[in-house]
Amino acid sequence: MASFTLHGIPVSRGIAIGRAHLLTRAALDVKHYLIPEEQVEAEVQRLQKAIATVHKELQTIWNELPKDSPAELGAFIDVHALILSDPMIAEVPLDIIRTRYYNAEWALVTQIDELSSQFDEIEDAYLRERKADIQQVGERVLKVLTGTAATQLAGSSTDEATGRMIIVAHDISPADMLQFKDRAFGGFVTDLGGQNSHTAIVARSLDIPAAVGMFNASALIQQDDWVIIDGDAGVVIVDPTATLLEQYRERQTRLIRDRKKLSKLRKTPSITEDGTEIALLANIELPEDCAAAMESGAAGVGLFRSEFLFMGRTGVSHKLPSEDEQFESYRKAVLAMKGRPVTIRTLDIGADKPLDDAEQTALNPALGLRAIRFCLAEPQMFLAQLRAILRASAFGPVRLLVPMMAHSFEIDQTLAMIEQAKTQLREAGQKFDPLIPVGAMIEIPAAALTLPMFVKKMDFLSIGTNDLIQYTLAIDRADHEVAHLYNPLHPAVLYLLSSTISIGTKAGVPVAVCGEMAGDVRLTRLLLGMGLREFSMHPRQLLAVKQEILNSDLNVLAPQVKKILKSYDPVAIAEAVEQLRGE
Ligand code: PEP
Ligand code: MG
Repeated sequence: MASFTLHGIPVSRGIAIGRAHLLTRAALDVKHYLIPEEQVEAEVQRLQKAIATVHKELQTIWNELPKDSPAELGAFIDVHALILSDPMIAEVPLDIIRTRYYNAEWALVTQIDELSSQFDEIEDAYLRERKADIQQVGERVLKVLTGTAATQLAGSSTDEATGRMIIVAHDISPADMLQFKDRAFGGFVTDLGGQNSHTAIVARSLDIPAAVGMFNASALIQQDDWVIIDGDAGVVIVDPTATLLEQYRERQTRLIRDRKKLSKLRKTPSITEDGTEIALLANIELPEDCAAAMESGAAGVGLFRSEFLFMGRTGVSHKLPSEDEQFESYRKAVLAMKGRPVTIRTLDIGADKPLDDAEQTALNPALGLRAIRFCLAEPQMFLAQLRAILRASAFGPVRLLVPMMAHSFEIDQTLAMIEQAKTQLREAGQKFDPLIPVGAMIEIPAAALTLPMFVKKMDFLSIGTNDLIQYTLAIDRADHEVAHLYNPLHPAVLYLLSSTISIGTKAGVPVAVCGEMAGDVRLTRLLLGMGLREFSMHPRQLLAVKQEILNSDLNVLAPQVKKILKSYDPVAIAEAVEQLRGE
């Protein structure tokens, strides 16, 4: 096949080279892991047993068909039984287990997908329809297999072969993306998604190259195609020529070398040329990410997105993590950070982070019952989280951060609930930090425009630029069709950012930025010039930002940025921001 190139949105930097692994919806629902060689035969038998069980099931259904049921019904069951006996289903997946070491579910889904795509090519409409039968048979076997989930092996992952696999999907939810966390996939390509969709953020936190918003990549790329992801440019090259492959391999090596150089800055204090100290903190999704935060030399955690502990648990409230379970996670993060502050954000569920994959019913979920709105509507759940966070504060410095606040009553109700949680803990004899700092995320324009309302009652502020841009420009951050309009340098965004920083600072309330802008080296000097002194970002970006800070002089930057903030000309703004780096 001829080589071709696809253009999308760069979301996670670096270069990945490997073979494509296409994910379908069904494939995402099952576990993917490699099995050790010695367990291959056991895995083969597990699949054989599941197929045999489905055979029996079909036989039972056939036997129990009412006498007067239409003849087609029996015929359908016969077709399913035939499909099940066909070597394409009964044998090929077993070979996949034996040769590629896929677990049974993965092997089955891989083969069903392969057969389904062959059916798509068939001219005859009737035969094409049989694809649904194959998928139904596959689903049946999968159900039996997942019913035996308890006997499944834990994912083993560091095999080199998986490290080179590139996941290609129409879309991946943040929860699904996290499913790959412990598996060393080489990169991600999706049809949907924008620069700052939560899926993109998780891709960055997985520290692997990714490109999203590729429109129809999942239809154009075939299983096992060779793929290069240029994560810096948002370009995906399919079936590259040998020369191109060589060039990219060289670039990959260079990038790894540059990163090694940066790692020397780990212990260097983050101070500008004029001697101003800048705090660099890490964003994390799970307590395990603290290792990367410490590794990057972060001064603490500036944003712990606690919702990832709640997601992907399929639905109903009794499946939410209990207070104790949350407490354990928060404490784990606090202990891992060894005395550095950990900023735990209360649940920010909703919009592109639904609690489960159940269909969203809200017309505009990003404008719906999200974050603090959801928490105030579920006081028992919120109180349990507040107690868990407070209890963790007995083990090291913890700051409590509340997302999406816009109204005065939301501030008051939240503070009242924190007091209530403290009273409950006192009554139960539980320890906590009574002076735990409480902060608000500034991510709704209304909040930025009424900052005095916040500075009066909050100990600190953290600007969530991802949402601030989304809500200021009315651009859905997860929608690739409007991704080109998502502009952090829009004068309205710059105005809200700089006024929040200056009003907060003047009032003596520390202001941080924890949105993706904080980790973008192209914007570091702009933010410094606005007066920002605390940045929180994914650990991977921290050292590059530090390098930028070490070479910056605030006395030079401040007047230049002041000038930029007076401009309404987007082209001039973009150029001037670029020039800040040229100094
Ligand atoms: C933000 O909105 O900028 C932010 C940091 O929060 P999240 O990306 O989790 O919405
Ligand atoms: Mg946000």
